[in-house]
Amino acid sequence: MSLFDVYPLFDITPVRAIGMHVYDENDVQYLDLYGGHAVISIGHSHPTYVKNVGSQLEQIGFYSNSIQNPLQQQLADELEEASGCSFYQLFLCNSGAEANENALKLASFHTEKKKVIAFTNGFHGRTSAAVAATDNAKIIAPINAQQSVEFIDLGDLDAVEESLKRGGVCAIIIECIQGVGGLDESTTKFYKGLDRLSKKHGVILIADEVQSGFGRTGDFFAFQKHEIEPDIISIAKGMGNGFPIGGILIHPKIKASYGLLGTTFGGNHLACAASLAVLNVLKEEKLLKNAKEISDYFLSQVQSISQVKQVKGRGLMLGLEFDFPVANLRKELIFTHHIFTGSAKNPNLLRILPPLTIQKKHIDQFVEALKEVLKQ
Ligand code: PLP
Repeated sequence: MSLFDVYPLFDITPVRAIGMHVYDENDVQYLDLYGGHAVISIGHSHPTYVKNVGSQLEQIGFYSNSIQNPLQQQLADELEEASGCSFYQLFLCNSGAEANENALKLASFHTEKKKVIAFTNGFHGRTSAAVAATDNAKIIAPINAQQSVEFIDLGDLDAVEESLKRGGVCAIIIECIQGVGGLDESTTKFYKGLDRLSKKHGVILIADEVQSGFGRTGDFFAFQKHEIEPDIISIAKGMGNGFPIGGILIHPKIKASYGLLGTTFGGNHLACAASLAVLNVLKEEKLLKNAKEISDYFLSQVQSISQVKQVKGRGLMLGLEFDFPVANLRKELIFTHHIFTGSAKNPNLLRILPPLTIQKKHIDQFVEALKEVLKQ
């Protein structure tokens, strides 16, 4: 059987990984500034992670959501403490798209409406409602196009208000910092305005923190910088450090009822053990503080590179914008300098999404390699 050929692949085969590094079958070491697309939060194969997941597997890896699983409540409690999001309720699932799908569905149940406001260049995943709220016509199949979604330019609060006045809206979904789209972020005034308008019109505000959450920006959630209170917060990626887990934090005003949401695998014992290990290491190793410090160092080091037109993003969710497409630059970084970086919808943007355990020496290695590729 052949694989369904949907991914353009780099010809590299990682066979093991530790900390900031990935190794191929010839034992070539690669510096990981991509984190498998913002997924590796506490570093590859972190000892606490390996121990937690391993010992959990020896006890019980999976049962179902029809029995007691105290690890789910432990995760909810520790997530509340780490994020400072008090009184929210946690629903666990398996991926970012699924988190947003459940968030949108819940918003629709709660408001009994169905129109969604989403933003230009946003990305929310590939399931039915999530992909319909994603601004990329190429990945929206006719079956998804039936969803009622209005795309508004990031920052255009007047257009949001006009749309809300027309009625029928169940949710506004937004990434406070756009990931796939290219690291754009609007102003605090705009996010506060969304918060105010959604409350005024009885609409659910969904903060998609799938990529930006779990400490990546140096705050636990990216929206926290803007001091807003979303009704639903979707999470995944860094939450499991590679173990598939996602979830939504749900404001207490949204009430649960049996059967409203559900999943077979979501919140299983292994996934909870993985995420608990992540929270433990984020705290023990003060990785949010590290994200801010290394981010500042990164900014100071790339400033002198004249080809860099703009540095976008926050914390360790960063983008370097050039005035030329970066595809070749990225290839040279991988194949000549053995450094993984990421791309974005914006072809001129190089994305930096490393594990939050990154140190200054890794930034130095990257900056040196970048200068060499750019022949500075
Ligand atoms: N939301 C955001 C902001 C993302 O960046 C992504 C994935 O890149 C998703 C949702 C979808 O997550 P997943 O690929 O786990 O379904």
